[in-house]
Amino acid sequence: MTRSAQHSTADSGSGAPLGAGDDAERRLRDRIVALGASLFARGFSVGSAGNISARSGDGVLMTPTNASLGRLDPERLSLLGPDYGRLSGDLPSKEVVLHRAVYEARPDARAVVHLHSPYATALSCLAQESEQAMPALTPYHVMRLGSRVPVIRYGRPGSDELFAEVRDAMRSGPAALLGNHGSLVAGASLEDAVNAAEELEASAQLAFVLHGRAPRSLTPDEVSELERMRIR
Ligand SMILES: [Zn+2]
Repeated sequence: MTRSAQHSTADSGSGAPLGAGDDAERRLRDRIVALGASLFARGFSVGSAGNISARSGDGVLMTPTNASLGRLDPERLSLLGPDYGRLSGDLPSKEVVLHRAVYEARPDARAVVHLHSPYATALSCLAQESEQAMPALTPYHVMRLGSRVPVIRYGRPGSDELFAEVRDAMRSGPAALLGNHGSLVAGASLEDAVNAAEELEASAQLAFVLHGRAPRSLTPDEVSELERMRIR
């Protein structure tokens, strides 16, 4: 029996038998742990920075507060109900507010990844709010992130103001930079969200590598064609 199943049985008294949902939740927990470790090993997050969430049933599984993505324990992930109240596991990251804002803005999103990866964070300290944070120079940038990645005005992590800004910005696309903070992406699956977070970091790195040079831009027609091939 999974920890969440133990919890729901203990709390609700329903005594519901285990079913396919429990297996799916267990696999999802393991994938969050594995992908978190992969991101950490490759320097996409350091210390306890960054967090990952994924929809599970009618709730959300979320990495806990002060947890390193490199050393997650599947049984200690926070399981949150539809109202984002904690059902089991450790306390969720205080940045759960970001994730909730994305899910409200993008009902089709199944997972959210937020990182303080070096180039995306550096760019988030340079770009002005509402600016196009980085040029869309490559096909996979457009297909995974859309042609425009907005910059969301700085807000204190966990604040109501930041929640509102994120919800508004993420209605127009699956990726954004949080001013003076890092990156935020949504995906149609956990793997899609992780891939998009990596693509965003690579695009931010390209922006620095090419700074002061004159790269060829994708033409409007090329961008339009790629927009139709979006990986959601
Ligand atoms: Zn953060």
